[in-house]
Amino acid sequence: MAVHREKINLYKTIKKIFPKILIKDLNENERICPDCHGLGVKINTRVFGTGDSLESHPYRTEALALCPHCFNGVQKICKYCGQPYKGHCDCEGQLAEDLKIQEQKWKLYLKQKKLTKGM
Ligand SMILES: [Zn+2]
Ligand SMILES: [Zn+2]
Repeated sequence: MAVHREKINLYKTIKKIFPKILIKDLNENERICPDCHGLGVKINTRVFGTGDSLESHPYRTEALALCPHCFNGVQKICKYCGQPYKGHCDCEGQLAEDLKIQEQKWKLYLKQKKLTKGM
């Protein structure tokens, strides 16, 4: 396998491709991701080689990949526990809120059921 190593100047290349400033309009419960500093990408390293041992994998391909800790460089912060979350926070505060909403929905459902029965 004839592998040759190329080096890409990240600073120069980024300067060529991207604008100087990224704009982020954040909601109250959002913050810039501290892991990728708002870029939304991190360096992902793929190592490869010929054998099974670590020493036989001397080659690498480094690339920019999506940051696993945020969405587009922005983290949503849970208003109950103050921690960043993706999709849905599973802390106690959020759980209590979810239960409250469920209860309200259920009450509304029962109310409507009664109403239709009465007709
Ligand atoms: Zn990030
Ligand atoms: Zn939470």
